Amino acid sequence: MKDAERVTFGGSGLDRAAEARREADALAGDGSARILPVWKGKPLLRAASDASLVLGSVGPDSPLLAEGPGTRVFLGRSEGRAWFAADISHWAPEGQDTATVGAFHDPSEQRHPALPEGDLFRELRAAMVRLTARDAELAATARGVLGWHHTHGFCARCGGPSEVSEGGWQRLCPSCGARHFPRTDPVAIMLVTDGNSVLLGRSPHWPEGMFSLLAGFVEPGETLEAAVRREVLEEAGVRVGEVSYLASQPWPFPSSLMLGCHGQALSREIVLDPVELEDARWVTKEELLAVQAGESTRLRPARPGAIAHFLLERWLADRLD
Ligand SMILES: [Zn+2]
Repeated sequence: MKDAERVTFGGSGLDRAAEARREADALAGDGSARILPVWKGKPLLRAASDASLVLGSVGPDSPLLAEGPGTRVFLGRSEGRAWFAADISHWAPEGQDTATVGAFHDPSEQRHPALPEGDLFRELRAAMVRLTARDAELAATARGVLGWHHTHGFCARCGGPSEVSEGGWQRLCPSCGARHFPRTDPVAIMLVTDGNSVLLGRSPHWPEGMFSLLAGFVEPGETLEAAVRREVLEEAGVRVGEVSYLASQPWPFPSSLMLGCHGQALSREIVLDPVELEDARWVTKEELLAVQAGESTRLRPARPGAIAHFLLERWLADRLD
């Protein structure tokens, strides 16, 4: 797809400077380095003069970084500066709303007393469409790698505690010497069409009326194409023939890479797997246009920023090539 990387979290051309990861500590001490604090998966974001958001950042000497043993990751170079992410999840906000932190929908915002008024920790899923491509890539990388460190403190081979190395891009086990790398889990997400109709489904726990493209994890030993056919058959009972790749999207909630595909349906009858899907239906282009325009109350569209929304818009505009 020609404009595949215009998807939210699409490639912004960030220089990840992998060759400099071993010298990351020295780079972090440079006065020009910028550090993006991340609290419980929420990046620090600042409201710009319009409706957009920009990354908040602190210098290496910020009191935020002195408070605890947070993991630091070298993200790369952007506009002549070295960028890092630092996990400050040990900070305990006092007297602030934290009831929804970690939930699927977290509208709460937290402010550290050492930071300016408008610098707030915000949920990335809600904020992602208000960021530039560069800031979105930095934030997604920060959230993905720090999340991996948070859940991989112990060696998967021997069980001993492991240590951060290579500027945050590896964990090394001092007991057995094993090296561990940040994981990315491939997820197939499919635009299954039959002529003028697309197959949409909804999971039981989604907001009422919301429908989107079907998706599922690619399994070991399986091609992407086979995963598309298997998932659609398992979840909706629809057989899929030809499959082609369209676009990908890093989705650090917590560690997925969404692989958007187009699948041609070979059958139309829907047989639901009630564990995976509450409902599924064929929706015509005309119906979907009405939904996107807010003229239909029958369905709620996929959320802007999600690759499902991106693929459906391209399909409606006949721009899948
Ligand atoms: Zn080990």
